[in-house]
Amino acid sequence: MAEGRARKIWALAGATIHIPRSLLMLGAEPTIVDAPTPSFLIEHPKGLVLFDTGCNPKILDDPVGYWGPMAAAMPFDWSKNETLDKQIERVGYKTSDIKYVVLSHGHLDHAGGLTYFPQATFIAGAGELRYSYWPDPDRRWAFILEDFVPTRGYKWTEFGHDQDLFGDGAVTFLYTPGHTPGECSILVNLPNRRVLITGDAVHTRASLDNEVSMPLSVNHGQAMASLKRIKAIRDIGGAQIWITHDPDDWKEYPHQLD
Ligand SMILES: [Zn+2]
Repeated sequence: MAEGRARKIWALAGATIHIPRSLLMLGAEPTIVDAPTPSFLIEHPKGLVLFDTGCNPKILDDPVGYWGPMAAAMPFDWSKNETLDKQIERVGYKTSDIKYVVLSHGHLDHAGGLTYFPQATFIAGAGELRYSYWPDPDRRWAFILEDFVPTRGYKWTEFGHDQDLFGDGAVTFLYTPGHTPGECSILVNLPNRRVLITGDAVHTRASLDNEVSMPLSVNHGQAMASLKRIKAIRDIGGAQIWITHDPDDWKEYPHQLD
C-alpha cells in the first residue's frame, strides 16, 4: 500500500449524552455514562475530511420539538459555543472548506450537522441512506428524518467495501457494518501514528476487549465480525483505536493528533 500521510486530526467536541451503560454494551449495568458525541476533522494535503457531524443544533433550543421522546431518553449537555461550525472555525477553517463528509451511520447523534456542508461530497456505507430514511419500526426513534430530508440534493456516494479516499493510503473508509446496515469507520495514517476512529462499530473499550455487541445493532453477527476486524487492525496492524462514544478515549487522547 502507498505510504501517504494525513497531517492532523482534530477531535471536535459535541453534545455529551447521558445514557445507561447497558445501552452501549449487552449485559452491562444500567449505570449512567457521560458519552461524548465528537466529530473528527482530518487534514490531508489534498483536502479536509470530516468524520461524523454530531447532534442537530436545533436541540439546543427545542430538544423535545426536534428529537421527540428521545429528548427525555437521552438527556445531554451542550452549548451554543460548541456547535460544529464554531469548532471548525476555531481550528482555522470554514465549513465551506470541507471536501468529504464521511457519515459513520445515520443515528441522531451522528447525522445532525449534515446541512452545514452543502458543497461537500458525502460518503456513507452501502444501504445506510435508505435505512436512515426508512428504518425498521423498532429502530425508528434513533433516526431523525429532518436530519436527512434537506440533504436529498447533496452529492452522496455509498461504498459497500473499503475505499482509499485520496489514493495514497492516508485516509481509508472502512466498511464495518452491523450496528446499522452501512456503518463505517475511518483509518488514518498520520506522521506519528495510525488511528482508527470507530463511529458506532464499537461503543466502549470493554466491548472491544471482551468482544461484546450492543443491544441496538441491526445485525449482531455482522457487528461482531466488524468489531473483530477493528480489534485485529489494532493488534496486528498497530492502529490506535478511538471509540467515538468512550468517555476514557475522549479524556485520554489529545484532541489534536499528528
Ligand atoms: Zn452513536
